[in-house]
Order: sequence, then structure tokens, then C-alpha cells
Amino acid sequence: MPLRAKVATSVSKTAAALSRAAGRGDGSVIGGWIGLKIDPELLTHLAAGRSIALVSGTNGKTTTTRLTAAAMEVLGPVATNSFGANMPTGHTSALAKAGATPFAVLEVDEHYLARVIEETHPRVVALLNLSRDQLDRAKEVAMMAQMWKTALAAHQDVKVVANADDPMVVWAAGGSPYVVWFSAGQRWLDDSFVCPQSGHPIERHQGDWWCTGCPLRRPRAHWQVEEEGVVDPRGDWHLVKLQLPGTVNIGNAATALAVVAEFGVHPLKALPYLATVTSIAGRYAQVDRDGRNIRLLLAKNPASWLEAFDMAEIAPTLLSINARDPDGLDTSWLYDVDFSPLRNRPVLITGDRAYDLAVRLEVNGVPFRHVTSFDEALQAVPPGRLEVIANYTAFQDIRAELDRVN
Ligand SMILES: [Zn+2]
Repeated sequence: MPLRAKVATSVSKTAAALSRAAGRGDGSVIGGWIGLKIDPELLTHLAAGRSIALVSGTNGKTTTTRLTAAAMEVLGPVATNSFGANMPTGHTSALAKAGATPFAVLEVDEHYLARVIEETHPRVVALLNLSRDQLDRAKEVAMMAQMWKTALAAHQDVKVVANADDPMVVWAAGGSPYVVWFSAGQRWLDDSFVCPQSGHPIERHQGDWWCTGCPLRRPRAHWQVEEEGVVDPRGDWHLVKLQLPGTVNIGNAATALAVVAEFGVHPLKALPYLATVTSIAGRYAQVDRDGRNIRLLLAKNPASWLEAFDMAEIAPTLLSINARDPDGLDTSWLYDVDFSPLRNRPVLITGDRAYDLAVRLEVNGVPFRHVTSFDEALQAVPPGRLEVIANYTAFQDIRAELDRVN
């Protein structure tokens, strides 16, 4: 590495360590920011010589990155940004901190994918899904797909692992000559009713889909979720045992298996590593308190709320909604989500925007009770499971109340 990059790496690690010591989070953003100020090409220097996989998409990228990094450990030490710092500052910091590892698995914010491909020269890029996110800030879905498509077309040597069930992803991956398709299902359909290529309606039937006006259609998947397991490209079915809930996470595991297969890791080698992952930065964490077993589920946009309903048991459920800066300030997305799956369980609501949620539940015919604190919620439910589904800052508030569970 050039001297400037060495100095930048060292200062970056020190800044991150100081930030951690001062109790200001994990320090990865500030560390990466300072490193990149000293050497704007630091990420490229740190990436050089490593075999890298990038993971991007609107939802599931933190979990899929964690699962992929775990499976990649079959091959040796892996650098990863496991705390969700998914912009170039976070990548720089993660690689600086890890030292010289042969492998890296990086979660990438979908807006930054083109730049991070340019700077890290990954071997594999995994594309999970694209759906509407924070309304006041995120790009429109079709624009994001176009950005991905352009980026991949400019890097023909990158192998793409992509979701065959999401028309937006299939269209974006079409820029690449080498694509491995996985099928993990698509619960949220509202952002892909119209073909991004031709503007014609997309038809769906039993998991298949096709454009009614151009050749865009669902490709045959090489990796497929089937019951509690995954079918690999040879047709062999593997039972997937995870400590994470829901079919959604079996889909995330299928993606991880498809990615590491491109590095030569067989599913049978990878599966025991996937089974070691318990929770990711508090997501899916379980805490026992006053005889209640509390489980934390993060849901940040309409598609991820549907996934959370799929993962949650039919048990008392606390919903918490804030609308602070990291959440997005506009809560009208609540009307994109069908809350009716919650009619069959006791529902409690809390958070800064509990009243927005109250109106939405009223419209949806879901009975609920408003509580003003987490303790009040605990006292309101009988001993046993309490599912907590919260958006970003609401999730962090509850996690803090439970003593920063991981
Ligand atoms: Zn079309």
C-alpha cells in the first residue's frame, strides 16, 4: 500500500477506536470519513488483493451480509461491515479495522452500489430486491434499477447473484453477462406492476411473472427455496437450520449459499456456519424480562413490515413507530401496508407517531391498545412471548431500554 494510504488507515482505525472509547457508537462512520479525507482512494487501496462480495437491495441486506460473511469463513478470515454502516465510510472503516483478510463481504446502500463496485472491484454482487423506501429521501424504484443496470454493464467481469422473483432486479441484472438467479419469493408486489423496460403491465401466476409487452420475464432460478430448505443448481435439496425466524430468512440463506458457491464453497460446508448466526445488531434478539420472552423485529418500509408479519408468531405484538430523521419524516407509507394479518392477536402500539398508527389500524379494523412506555407494554401482556415490531429509531429506543441487546 502507498504510504499515504498506510497513514490514512492508521488514523482511521485510531479515530474509530477513540469514538468507541467515548461511547459514541462503533466509530465506523467517523473512522472511514477521516481515512477518506486523508486519502480519497483509501477504499480502493484497502480492497486491493481481497476477494470481495457486495450485497445490496432495499431489504434484507444486513441479514444476508451477516449470513454470507459467516458462510465465507469456511475459506478463511472475512472482513465485513456487520453493524449496518453501509456507505463507503463504513466500508473503509471495516476493511481498515479487519487488517489483511483474503475475503470481504460488504453490505452496500443501494444508492452507492455503482461507486462501491468502481472502488472495490468485487468478484460477486448480490442484488436482493428493490421497493419503495423512505418517501422523502429515497430514489424512485425504477431509477434505482437503471443505476444498477448501468453500473453492472460497465463491469462485465463482475458475477451477479440476483433475485429472479423481482422484475426490477431481473431488469437491472440484465446489464451483466454472468448472472446466477435465486428465487426467494416476493411478498411485496406494489413496486413492480409495470415493466421497467417497456412500461407494459406485468402479469403474475403462481410465482411466475412476465411482461405483457416485451420479452422481459422471470428467468429460471438456479437456487430455490423449498419448504425448510434450499435446492441447489444440481437439484440437491439441503435442509437449512437457522436461529433466525421465518421463510424470509431461508431466502436470505439461499442468497448467501449462492454467493459463496461463486467462491467455491459447497452448501454442505456453508450450512453449519449459517446455523451459528443468532441475531444481527439486535434484530431477532430475544430477551427475557418479567416472565415475558421479548423478540425484536425491525421493519423500516412497507415490504419489510409484510416480512415482519410473516416472521412474528401469533402472540401479543407491540408496534412502535417514530418519524425521526433516520426513519424518514413522512408516515403516509403506513397506508401502503395491510395490517389485517394482525387481527388475530392482541396489538399494542407506542412510539412518537403512535397516533398515526392508531388511525391506520382503525381503518384496517385491527383492535389495539395504546401504551406510553415499554414497561407499560410488558405489564399489559401475560407471561410468554411478546413480539416487538418497530421502525429504525423506535427499534433503537427499545433496544436501549433492554440494555443494548445484540
Ligand atoms: Zn416489458
